[in-house]
Amino acid sequence: MPMKEIVCKLLVIGAGPGGYICAIRAGQLGVDTVIVEAVKAGGTCLNIGCIPSKALIHAAEEFEKVSHMAGNGGPLGITVEAPKLDLAKAVAWKDGIVGRLNSGVLGLLRKAKVKIVHGKATFRDGKTVEVETETGVQIIRAETVVIATGSEPVELPFLPFGGPVISSTEALSLKTVPKKLVVVGGGYIGLELGTAFAKMGSEVTVVEAMQQILPQYDAELVRPVAKRLADLGIRVLTGAKAKGLSEEGLALTIETAEGEEQRLPADKILVTVGRKPRTEGWGLDELDLDRTGKFLRIDDRCRTSMRGVHAIGDITGEPMLAHRAMAQGEMVAEIVAGKKRTWDKRCIPAVCFTDPEIVTAGLSPDEARAQGYEIRVGQFPFNANGRAMTMLSEDGFVRIVARADSNLVLGVQAVGAGVSELSSAFALAIEMGARLEDIAATIHAHPTRSEGFQEAALKALGHALHI
Ligand code: FAD
Ligand code: NAD
Repeated sequence: MPMKEIVCKLLVIGAGPGGYICAIRAGQLGVDTVIVEAVKAGGTCLNIGCIPSKALIHAAEEFEKVSHMAGNGGPLGITVEAPKLDLAKAVAWKDGIVGRLNSGVLGLLRKAKVKIVHGKATFRDGKTVEVETETGVQIIRAETVVIATGSEPVELPFLPFGGPVISSTEALSLKTVPKKLVVVGGGYIGLELGTAFAKMGSEVTVVEAMQQILPQYDAELVRPVAKRLADLGIRVLTGAKAKGLSEEGLALTIETAEGEEQRLPADKILVTVGRKPRTEGWGLDELDLDRTGKFLRIDDRCRTSMRGVHAIGDITGEPMLAHRAMAQGEMVAEIVAGKKRTWDKRCIPAVCFTDPEIVTAGLSPDEARAQGYEIRVGQFPFNANGRAMTMLSEDGFVRIVARADSNLVLGVQAVGAGVSELSSAFALAIEMGARLEDIAATIHAHPTRSEGFQEAALKALGHALHI
């Protein structure tokens, strides 16, 4: 079959949140842009990550709410018949949302006049890739290349994916709720999905190697989540190591913190022990780009060690978050279009969609102290917040960390129901260089949970009003 050739100014490899945003922005700026995607537009986030997981979490939350009422009526005085869950139907609803967003991304790319090529790209050299498409091999030459190929689940050698051993991808498309679910890895994915399945009726056990679940967060932030996991009947085994599949019956063998071997019977074993950059199988080794560990090394303009080759998103390391990938993508597009941009963000907020949710933006108290700051910390509990009381969600708090000398806000953390929506206020305050006085002086609408943010600032200033 004859080879077709395209020559363009910008070639983006991978249409996840990093790649598609980069291509759209470049197209808007009049840069002649081609994007190549091997699977589906939207990448991990849209197809098998952020969006489908949040859809499933929502379905599980709704089901649990109603189940709870059926159990004991609850304080609201609502009683219902025991509800049933048709997981296949909920998954079909989730697939519908994913489908709508897929078409949305493709539409936005077309509107920005980006050429979309479907197929897997393989590097020939730093400026040329070969794509196997349905209609033959397509050669693409570009002045600038952006690598945005993302990440994939880490596989444990003694617990390879297949059959009952699943990754988040399969967990998001199960047709029935597993009776017994063992989750290996108590991080973001394990706890978000483990909680959702417990709410849908699975008997869930979480096996976490470290001494604490969500080990990247301080113990105070994690406590309300650990309490809720216990209330939901989820068994959490910390300091425990997965060893492999048990010989008799389907079960996971683990070594407990006490050094004992234990068998955990399971219908499904969900392995969520982190994600690794997708660097293999497509000629990237030919380029010999510098790495930081397994990730591609980049500078403050997302440039790799090869001229004209940028990298963005999960392939460039932690934090592996969609909004970081998007911000990098937008910046690189502007650089390619000739604008002067460097990575000057003060913080990348992170949300863990557990129950309750956790938000972090900027520095925690320990991180600030470790960086040599003298700090002031203000913390406001949701059990002193009227709105939280009216929503039966009093667990958690907002915590604000500021420099003791200038009151400049260095970080904000929160744990509580629905606090994901406060993440933008926290990030905005840090990005704009707010001081405690700015937040304290801003009128926060009543009654909202966001008042906890203002009260935390007042507390740090020494004159909280509601505690
Ligand atoms: P990806 O989204 O991985 O996209 C890379 C794309 O490149 C893919 O579409 C892939 O098919 C394509 N590709 C790879 N190689 C080639 C090739 N050779 N040729 C052509 N195409 C190629 N992040 C959040 O911020 N919030 C969340 O709530 C959240 N939830 C998550 C839940 C789960 C279950 C998972 C797994 C992840 C979650 N994440 C979340 C992380 C988020 O999905 C990633 O940070 C984000 O998708 C990274 O974007 P990216 O553009 O770097 O890569
Ligand atoms: P993670 O790094 O959040 O958690 C992995 C957990 O597995 C850690 O707690 C680790 O100690 C544990 N672990 C590692 N090896 C183990 C073993 N052999 N036995 C038992 N436990 C073990 O990784 P993840 O949950 O797989 O998520 C991957 C990435 O995806 C995250 O780092 C995050 O960037 C992204 N993500 C983000 C969100 C969000 O923003 N809400 C949601 C899901 C995923």
